[in-house]
Amino acid sequence: MNIGLIAHDAKKTLIQNFCIAYRGILSKHSLYATGTTGRLIEEVTNLPVHKYLAGPLGGMQQLGAQIAENDIDALIFLRDPDNPKPNEPNVNDVVRLCDVHNIPMATNVATAELIIHAIDRGDLDWREIYK
Ligand code: PGA
Repeated sequence: MNIGLIAHDAKKTLIQNFCIAYRGILSKHSLYATGTTGRLIEEVTNLPVHKYLAGPLGGMQQLGAQIAENDIDALIFLRDPDNPKPNEPNVNDVVRLCDVHNIPMATNVATAELIIHAIDRGDLDWREIYK
């Protein structure tokens, strides 16, 4: 499965810890991330991550384009709920495109854990059939 990963700055340590905790599952899948998030995940997990540009520099749109092609099977997007981002419209676009294509998306770590366990159980294998 193609798993998308994005974390706002306030959540970057959290996504690193999440990826360390679930490294075993993540290692069986292809990982795609905005630039800084991807680099930080690689640093702590040593897993290969396809890194787009940094989010505010267009990485959000690049990952969004992959979602628009229905080529991301699940998105973990740990958003900072407290501080609005200058690229907020891009953030909303990504969320909307997940809804367009019925792509499971987590915006907090509790839901991210549900999704990662679901992937491991094969609950999302319908995505492969659908594609
Ligand atoms: P980044 O992008 O992973 O490159 O920091 C996410 C964001 O816009 O915060």
